[in-house]
Order: sequence, then structure tokens, then C-alpha cells
Amino acid sequence: METKHITIIGAGPAGLSAAIYAARAGLSTLVLGCAPKIAGDYDIDNYFGFPETITGKELVERGRAQAERFGADIRCDRVLGIHLDEEMRYTVKTESGEVKTCAVILATGVSRVRPGVENLGDYEGKGVSYCVSCDGFFVRGKKVVVVGEGIFAANQALELTNYTSDITIITQGKKPEMSENFLKQLADASIPVLEKKAVRLEGENGLERVVLDNDETIDAEGLFVAIGEASSSDFAYSLGIERNGVFLVADEKKATNIPGVFAAGDCRGGFLQISVAVGEGAVAAKSAISYVKKECPNMKTG
Ligand code: FAD
Repeated sequence: METKHITIIGAGPAGLSAAIYAARAGLSTLVLGCAPKIAGDYDIDNYFGFPETITGKELVERGRAQAERFGADIRCDRVLGIHLDEEMRYTVKTESGEVKTCAVILATGVSRVRPGVENLGDYEGKGVSYCVSCDGFFVRGKKVVVVGEGIFAANQALELTNYTSDITIITQGKKPEMSENFLKQLADASIPVLEKKAVRLEGENGLERVVLDNDETIDAEGLFVAIGEASSSDFAYSLGIERNGVFLVADEKKATNIPGVFAAGDCRGGFLQISVAVGEGAVAAKSAISYVKKECPNMKTG
């Protein structure tokens, strides 16, 4: 498995700024993330040092080139999950492989994707979960559904096979966006992928049924939400990072409550602006660099 000192999740202003500092400090630095939302034809008028309007696309391309100049390895790949091992090192699982790392900087921006199930909140903690590694144990041998259309949902469903064999994926009416490889793994595990929409949940003391938009029902005692790609909240659930709603809580050094995990930019909330994200990325990198030097001084990377 590849090993890196610092893995940054997110290639937006926060992640790229962190990468400039981490790589320039001589640490092996991996950035996982594709073009951020701002990398389009949006006019940026309020970023320091650009008296003429610059597009979001150009600003991000410049940041990326700058990070690469110092040796950062930037890949358009999506992170599916992060796990901590006994040696206090993190394994970052992506759509294309796994990386071992000493420190993680979360710079995933903010995601407000909701599944659109009307009474989902009533069943949180009573069958509805956002984290298979946290709650899979509670659905041992039970019927469960995973709500989501992408590889993140597929991966969550496959992780659930450690606990139960009765798993259904509901895509909320969307076309599945899963690679052939994941579709094959789902087929091998007999996990159907239904292009239907869950609209309501039912059950007396906990989840018993999922009602679909055609009034069909699916018996289920567990429902795992995995819409779109994994967000900072999903990583927070699985690692135990303190949250404030959809945002991660981090101190002034951008350290979360989990050693070796730092957070910067929009995923931390506050004033959601490029200048703030860039500043926070720099602070998170400085903290991550100190952490790596103290905790992983002899880590062999490559
Ligand atoms: P983002 O830029 O959102 O980047 C998040 C990164 O995380 C992306 O690379 C994404 O691919 C990656 N990611 C997420 N999940 C995963 C995963 N599971 N695996 C791998 N990668 C993942 N701010 C200003 O200051 N001035 C403006 O004029 C301005 N205009 C804006 C216009 C628009 C249309 C939008 C949408 C925003 C605008 N903003 C503006 C806000 C600004 O874009 C954000 O504050 C800033 O981009 C936040 O940076 P970030 O790095 O924290 O997150």
C-alpha cells in the first residue's frame, strides 16, 4: 500500500493551500479531490492580490500548479472512507485504491445533500444511520436498505455484508453512478440496486418499513444514508470527529478532537469564502506538519 505523510481530502482552495505548505515543508503530500464547485466561469472579485477579476477556474488552476511545483501529488479521486489502525495510522480508501497516512486534512467543502425522505429525522438512532462502521453491528442479520446512487453507497452496502446478507440499495430515482467493478461486486453479493425513491419511513418503536413513491413498501430495520460522495460529515461519523450540524469542529490550530485529523475551509463552517479557506488550509498544514514530525518521524513513504 502507498504511504504518505499527509493526505489532504479536497482539491479546493483550502486543500490546495494546505498542500502548498505541506509539500514545501518537504513532506510527502497527497491531495485527493476533483475540481471544486468554484472552478468554473465564476468571477472572483474579492480575493487578495487580483485587482482584475479572475475566474474561479483560473484561481484554482494556479493554486494547483503552485502545489504541484513543490511536489504535491494531486489526484482526481473520491474518498469512500477513512479508518484508524492499531498503530494510530490512517487508511484512506478511495474509488481506486488505499493509502496509508500519518495525518489527514479534511478540506471537503460543505455538502448539504439530503435524501428527501420526509420523516427521516424521526428514525435517526432508531434504524436510520449515516455510518456503517459505527452502526452496522446493530443490524446483524436484519433487512437493511442503503439510500444513495454512487460508489459511496455501493461501498457502504458492501461493508454491510459483514453484518447481514439482506441489503437493498435505493437510488432515490437516479441512475446508478457506479463503476462496472462495483456493480459486479454488488451482483456477486446479491444486492439489488433499485432506481426508486424512498419517501417515508414507518415503524412503531423503530424502523420497520420504507415506503417508496409508488406506495410499494420494503421491510427494513436499518436504513443507511449514503447519497452522492462521502462528505466531511460521513468521515466525522466513522472517526468520531465532533460536529456542529453539518460542520466539523476544530480548534484555532484546525485540529479536530481526533489526533492527526485536521479540518479547514467550508467544511468547518463560519465565513464561507476563498480567502478564509486558503488561510485555514495554511494553518491546518502547519499543525499537520508538526504532528507528523512528532508522531511519524521515521515513516517510510512511497
Ligand atoms: P471547496 O472549494 O468546496 O472544495 C471541496 C473539495 O473537496 C473539492 O475538490 C471536492 O471535489 C472535494 N471533495 C469533497 N468530498 C470528497 C470526497 N469524498 N473525496 C475526495 N474529494 C472530495 N468565495 C469568495 O471568496 N468569493 C467569491 O466570489 C465566491 N463565489 C462563489 C461562487 C459560487 C458559484 C460558489 C459555489 C462559491 C463561491 N464562493 C466564493 C465560496 C467559495 O467557493 C468557497 O468558500 C471555497 O471554495 C471553499 O473552499 P474549500 O476548499 O473549503 O471547499
